[in-house]
Parts: sequence; structure tokens; C-alpha cells
Amino acid sequence: MGEIWRASQFRMALSLAAALLLDYLTGLPGVFTIVLLLWWLRQYLRGTWNYHHWLQGDGQLYPPEGKGVWADIHDLTVRRIKRQRQRAHQGVQLMREFRHAASALPDAVIILDNRKNILWMNHRCETLLGLNPVKDVGVNLSNLIRTPAFIQWFARQDESCITLPAPLNNRIRLQYRRIPYGHNRHMLLVRDVTERERIEQTRKDFVANVSHELRTPLTVLSGYLEMMQDAELPEWQPAVAQMREQSLRMQHIIDDLLTLSRMDAENLLENQQALDMPAWMQTLAKEARALSQQRHTIELKLQSDQWLQGNESLYQAFSNLVSNAVRYTPEGGQITLIWRTGPEGGEFAVMDTGIGIPRQHIPRITERFYRVDSDRSREAGGTGLGLAIVKHVLQQHGAHLLVESEVGRGSTFTCAFPTRMLRPSAHATTGLTTS
Ligand code: ADP
Repeated sequence: MGEIWRASQFRMALSLAAALLLDYLTGLPGVFTIVLLLWWLRQYLRGTWNYHHWLQGDGQLYPPEGKGVWADIHDLTVRRIKRQRQRAHQGVQLMREFRHAASALPDAVIILDNRKNILWMNHRCETLLGLNPVKDVGVNLSNLIRTPAFIQWFARQDESCITLPAPLNNRIRLQYRRIPYGHNRHMLLVRDVTERERIEQTRKDFVANVSHELRTPLTVLSGYLEMMQDAELPEWQPAVAQMREQSLRMQHIIDDLLTLSRMDAENLLENQQALDMPAWMQTLAKEARALSQQRHTIELKLQSDQWLQGNESLYQAFSNLVSNAVRYTPEGGQITLIWRTGPEGGEFAVMDTGIGIPRQHIPRITERFYRVDSDRSREAGGTGLGLAIVKHVLQQHGAHLLVESEVGRGSTFTCAFPTRMLRPSAHATTGLTTS
């Protein structure tokens, strides 16, 4: 209990004692005590009324001052009001800081409610999207950005990004990203990626041009080396054989680089068709047997006769996985090719009983030129680009690669396709086979 309460109680006890003494001395029993009680009651009622009056009105910030206990209540209330005002002030300051920071962002930021009405946007929206940060608040976003590709993407409700030409200038490329938060709120981030795309394109063009330029001199060199191998130069044969091997490796690297550049350049989704997976599986198995040259057991498990809607480049991806399985499985091992479909989509898998991949390397093996063991990859005729091609092709199709592997036991590479890519077989009935 506070000081004031104690002092007040002491005062009350003292005045009660005085009233009782006066009652006794004057011979008027109860009179002074009753007067005292009535005075206390009046003070209490007055204090309560003043407070009530203050709470009801909205003019005065602080409560009326009082005496005794009411003075204590007054101080406590004033302290609390000051604390709250300080907190509110800090909140306003923080909000102001946030707005300044958001305005200074190089990206456009739009906050939307569950109906896509704009709640707030920063000033960058004006330059990037041509929106008015004051007038357009409250307006539905689909009335302001009307590009069909944007509307379609926005309706998808996922967290993917989309890059489109800017509404005001189609030479500027904008990347849109939607971030859901809180209760049905969305933040739309819009970034100018023109420069980034230009640099990326320059890099791609450079790789493509270098690969292309190297191709011709390499073909000439390979031709001469072939001639030298046929010539009667016994002392040169080991050197020529090695040079031929190395030039072939370079050719493979250039071919893979050009394949990647071509895939980068063309939109694989534009050239789609229904791919006869059962027929492809047979061809892939044949390819595996040719590569293996009887060193492995090749098994084909065709568990579905469905086809796949996609670009023909998928064949290259599957072929790379088959080739890896053969190259990284020692003699006597088993390689199984599987095509299966179900309610969750389609899966093309290559299982091998090969050398396996240490766990820490798995996340990186799809990077360009990443190899677990460079010498082994070279010996196996690898370029370090096979899985990069697989990943690229799958990504473009909205599919993904799953890798399971155990050192010394083998690996399984699975290409998982969404249901929307599956097509019924165009043949009447094809027997499902295991061979
Ligand atoms: P490379 O041309 O070197 O085979 P890839 O991109 O195809 O390049 O593969 C990257 C690396 O992943 C390989 O160097 C190898 O270390 C590892 N790898 C790929 N497939 C397999 C497999 N089936 N078994 C074991 N290791 C594999």
C-alpha cells in the first residue's frame, strides 16, 4: 500500500479518535462522530463524482486533482496516461521511420488486403508502375495492373515470382513477388531486374559464343589427329591417342555448353508435345545396354503407359541420368529404369547399385562443373554438365529432381512431374513390361 494511503488511514484514525473524545467530553454521544462520518462520505462522493465527470468528458487530459487518497489516485492516473502517451508517440515515430525506410527502398512495395485492395504503397510504385501512392490507395490492384500475364499469375496464389515488361516502358523488366503474411494480407514486391537480366544475358551469350568459336578449330585439330593415328608413326601413337582422347573430351564439354545455351535461349514450354514415354523407355534401355557393353544388368520397369506433355529436350535429361548410372556403376552392377504414374504425378527414375554419392555433395551435384571426384568423372568421360542440363530442363517444365544415394550402395535419380503434364497413351493398349 502506498505512503499516501497509510498517512490517510492514520489521519482518519486520528480524527475518529478526536471525534469520539469530543463526544465524550461534551456529553453529546455520537454527534461529532456522525458529523465526521458525514464529512468523509461527502469527500468520497465528491471525489467519485469529479472522476466520473472527467471520464465522461473529453476536454481534460488529466483527472481533477483531489485531496488525500484522491491525490494519490490522481498521481497514479497521470503517470499511467503519460506512459501510454509516450508509448503511442514511440509507435508513431516507429511508423514514420518504417515509412521513410520503405520509401527509400529501391523496390516498389504494395500492401494488399484479402480482396487485393491496396492498403498502402511506397513512392517507388510511382516510377516503376505508374501508380499514385495517395490516390490509388483503396483501389483494387487488378484495376491498375491489367497485363493478362500478371492477372493470371496473381490469381495463382502461390509464392512464385514472375518477370514482365514494365507497364510504362516495355524495355524495363520488372520482377513481381507476392509475400503472404498475417491474416489474409499480401505484400507485393516489385523489383527492376533489367540490369541483372542484361548481365545474365551477356554471360550466356559469351559462353555460347566461346563454345561456338572453339568448335571449328577443335574439329580441325581432331581431324588431323585422326589422320596422324592412321599414319605409320609408331613412336607418336601413345601421344596421338591421348591428344585424341582430350580433344574428344573438349568436344563433349563444348557440346554440353552449347546444349545448355540453347536451352537457356529457347523457351522449352513453347515447343511442347505429347512424348511417348513407353517408347522412350525402350530406347533409353537400349542406349544403356549399348553404353554398358554387357558390364551391367539393365532392367526396365514400365509401370505406366501414360505419355508426358513436354519438350523433346527431356530425352536429353533422361539420357544423361542413364549415362551417369552406367558410368558410375562398377562392372556387375544393376541399373533399373522406371516409368510410373499415379495420383501425385509421373516419375521417371534411374536406380543404380553404383559407387553412390557422399551426402554432403548431393545438394551441389547439379551445379555446372561440380563433380564429387574430378579424376573419376574425367576417366568416366564426364563433362560436369550432365546434371546441370537435367536440372535446367526439369525446372523449365515445373518438374523437379530427387536424389537419393548411399556411398557404396548406389543412387536413385528421380524426375518428378506434376499431374498436369501427364497424357493418356495415344496407342490403343500397350502392355506394361518389365524386361
Ligand atoms: P559428370 O559429367 O562429371 O558425370 P554430371 O553433372 O553428370 O557430371 O554429374 C555430376 C557429378 O555427380 C559427377 O561428377 C559424379 O560425381 C556425381 N554423379 C552423378 N550421377 C551419379 C551416379 N549415378 N552415381 C554416382 N555419382 C554420380
